[in-house]
This record gives sequence, structure tokens and C-alpha cells, in this order.
Amino acid sequence: MDMTVKIDVCVEMQNIHKFYGPVHALKGVDLKVRRGEVCVAIGPSGSGKSTLLRCINQLEHISTGRVFVKGELQGFTEEAGRFHRLSPGAIAAQRRMTGMVFQRFNLFPHMTALQNVMEGPAHVRGWPKARAETKAQELLRRVGLDGFAGRYPGQLSGGQQQRVAIARALAMEPEVMLFDEPTSALDPELVGEVLDVIKDLALSGITMVVVTHEIGFAREVGNHLVFMDQGAVVEEGHPRDVLANPRNPRTTAFLSKVL
Ligand code: ADP
Ligand code: MG
Repeated sequence: MDMTVKIDVCVEMQNIHKFYGPVHALKGVDLKVRRGEVCVAIGPSGSGKSTLLRCINQLEHISTGRVFVKGELQGFTEEAGRFHRLSPGAIAAQRRMTGMVFQRFNLFPHMTALQNVMEGPAHVRGWPKARAETKAQELLRRVGLDGFAGRYPGQLSGGQQQRVAIARALAMEPEVMLFDEPTSALDPELVGEVLDVIKDLALSGITMVVVTHEIGFAREVGNHLVFMDQGAVVEEGHPRDVLANPRNPRTTAFLSKVL
């Protein structure tokens, strides 16, 4: 076995099935996201894209299959083919390996931008306040919000709020960032500033999975495109290839609607 390849895989999903009651939302998904890769997931509404992300960071329990982050089985220990669920504390620690950014920014409304970004390092990681604050200031600068540290979410535009949310996720120094339609709730003129920040992170080598309808972003920034339909990955490859020469008729049909 080629160990270098194995270590290079940041997220691996093996034969993931997810049911919500009778709804079969993921139907045997296999996915490998390599370190430093920008994996972009596209597909129609209801195809399972959010569920895919939520299963990676254990916001949802998978029904069957295995998820690994940095080679570590998520949610369970496995001994001789038997699975034992990890303790809530161990699961919480694993969940910190992934940073999630949602369509809606989910900031704490009663906290300033700075306090929102400091919260994780100070209260979850237990950093001294001064260190957490320095880190938060640095991250706000990184997302272009120098000078907005004292603003409350209600005093920020949607694009600024989403950039605070990105800084907040980065503050936990995750192994992989998961973005679930990060620009879908924004007014069109604010989309670019958020995509630019995500692009900067991508160029700095942060591993990410981005669910988006922004095909231009997928083509320009992505290096792995996954097309989902009806709970399955029906096609994947380099964005240039998949977008220019889709092989699956369902991909073709979807792209003809969004391009
Ligand atoms: P997408 O993000 O691609 O729009 P989702 O992952 O949100 O798709 O949904 C996949 C399928 O699972 C859909 O049929 C959706 O209705 C269903 N689903 C998602 N979340 C839930 C839930 N909490 N309870 C029941 N069904 C759900
Ligand atoms: Mg979704």
C-alpha cells in the first residue's frame, strides 16, 4: 500500500448512507478530499449536498459507512468489525477538526465581531484572553475586516457578517473548512467579497469542501468537482474537465440550467 497517498487524504467517506426517517438522503457516497484540495460540490436542491457536509462534521449521524478526517475514524472506534460510539467529549474534539460555514451566518448577535471570533479560542481551546484576542484581530485582518472588530453583527452587511463567520471558523484552526452555500443568502453585490476571501484561503493551501452554485468559482478556484444528484455522486473530476465535458446526462441537464 502507498502510505504517502493515504496520509495525503484529508477527508475520506466510504459508502456513506444517510436516512432521515424514510428519506434516503445519501446513497452510498464515496469521497476523497486530499490535503490542500478545493473540492467543490454542486447539484440540484435536495441532492444531499448539505447532508454530505453535515455528515463530515458529525452534525448528522451517518446511517452506515465510515468517515475519516486525517485518517481518524469519526464518531466511533472500530474493533474486530464492531463499532462503538465515542463519548460526547471525544466527538466534540473530533468536530473541531472541521470548520463549518453556513448559508446563514449564525453569529452571536449580542457579541462584537471580535468577541465572535475569540469565543472558540478563549472558551473552547482555553487560550488566555490576550492571546485569543491577538489571534482574532489577525483573522479579522485576513478576511478584510480590520477596523470592524467592535461592530455587532447587526451593524455589519451580510458579506461582512459572513466574513466574520469565516474568521470564527478559522480561529479553531481546523484541518478542513466546510462551506455550505456561503454566498446564497447574500445580495448579489456582496457575493464577490466573500468568494474572494474563500479564494485567498484556498490559495494559502487550506483544504476545503465548498457547496456552491457559483460555477465560475468552481472553475477558477476548484481542483476537484463533485456533482451530486438524488443522494449520489454521479460524476467527479477536475472542474475544467467536468464543466467542459460532462459525461453524465444529469450533469449536462443541471449545467444547462445554471450556466
Ligand atoms: P441539498 O443541500 O443538496 O439541497 P439536503 O442534504 O439538504 O440537500 O437534503 C437531501 C434530502 O434530505 C432532501 O430530500 C431533503 O428534503 C432531506 N432532508 C434534509 N434534511 C432533513 C431533515 N433534517 N429531516 C428530513 N429530511 C431531510
Ligand atoms: Mg443544502
